[in-house]
Amino acid sequence: MSKSYIGAGGEKMTDCIFCKIVAKELPADIVYEDEQIIAFRDVKPVAPVHILVIPKRHIESLQTTDSTDDQLLGALMGVARQVAKEQNLAGYRVATNIGKEGGQVVKHLHLHVIGGRPLSDLPALG
Ligand code: AMP
Repeated sequence: MSKSYIGAGGEKMTDCIFCKIVAKELPADIVYEDEQIIAFRDVKPVAPVHILVIPKRHIESLQTTDSTDDQLLGALMGVARQVAKEQNLAGYRVATNIGKEGGQVVKHLHLHVIGGRPLSDLPALG
């Protein structure tokens, strides 16, 4: 059964897997949650630590944000920093893919927090 969610512009979102994780309709290994943000482990990790930090509100990508989202974007980076600290990462990468050409598969804004091993062999994400 498919459910609808309300997107940033008031539009109905259908079958967004990350919206389903936010709604707890899909299981996820959640490592952080507050009113506007949730972070969970990537189902196909490319390193020992691979966590996705997402806004609970459906936003397609960084490209569809504007200056009114700057507080939220800063908060997403803050959560990325916090989960990296909690994972005791000496060094790590924070990245977001934007659009098909940028390697984005899931069209719900997310930051990848990746670490736990040297990342020199990891030129691309997705
Ligand atoms: P991107 O290519 O930037 O859109 O990345 C999407 C990421 O979401 C990939 O690294 C996937 O492994 C991850 N992913 C997809 N479905 C799930 C899921 N149900 N739970 C956790 N991670 C997921």
